[in-house]
Amino acid sequence: MKILVTDDSRLARSMLIALLKVHFPVEHEIIQAENGKQAIELFKQHHPEYCFLDITMPHMNGIEALKLIKEKSPAAKVVMLSADIQNTSIEIARQCGAIYFIKKPIDEIKVKQAIEYIWNSK
Ligand SMILES: [Mg+2]
Repeated sequence: MKILVTDDSRLARSMLIALLKVHFPVEHEIIQAENGKQAIELFKQHHPEYCFLDITMPHMNGIEALKLIKEKSPAAKVVMLSADIQNTSIEIARQCGAIYFIKKPIDEIKVKQAIEYIWNSK
């Protein structure tokens, strides 16, 4: 099982990856991208089952990347992350096909809840 983690913050990426390693229920390989553009390239290359996408990133933001991922692969399961939890951002992400939204900064409880949710909604 492959998981794509995309965030322009190296620290945010490594925190999320560390928590996924501990809490994700099955063996998995993590692929990292630092912006939406790179995420799209890696998505095409690796076809990850799950994607975690930060919204605010240079070159291509998370919403644009989400749209392209869902266009390419409608069944892709994408979790969005953002410090901006305005209802409009969450609504846009939902409309574009995101299955879950994590408010940054992340912590263990939020990541555990996200994993439980996406795993149980298979
Ligand atoms: Mg960011």
